[in-house]
Amino acid sequence: MTKGYKRDATCVYCGATFVAPRVDVTYCSKECSRHAGNAVRRRHQPVVACVGCGGLFRQSRSNRRYCSAACCGRAAKDRANERGWPRQEPHRHLDGFGRPVNPDETPPDWQPPEAA
Ligand SMILES: [Zn+2]
Ligand SMILES: [Zn+2]
Repeated sequence: MTKGYKRDATCVYCGATFVAPRVDVTYCSKECSRHAGNAVRRRHQPVVACVGCGGLFRQSRSNRRYCSAACCGRAAKDRANERGWPRQEPHRHLDGFGRPVNPDETPPDWQPPEAA
């Protein structure tokens, strides 16, 4: 990078505007950096977009991808629908009456065609 890197930045602790000498400098002063130490560790939760609904939420864990359990459950259901089950490979898993051969493969909402 350029030697004379300078950037207008906002102190993430006190909100003051200052010129940051390096891209990784996020505090206006050593005091702010020190004071913010604990608080930042606690609230180091990036705001990310939920992969389910696209809404923004604070990511409390780095592997969280959904804003809520409801979104996660809905997305799991969508994924099941995308698999097209039980239409996928119907002849392999269904017996002559259109019922899955293996009960473990029956989706929870599966209905026999004759009952529909
Ligand atoms: Zn500051
Ligand atoms: Zn969501």
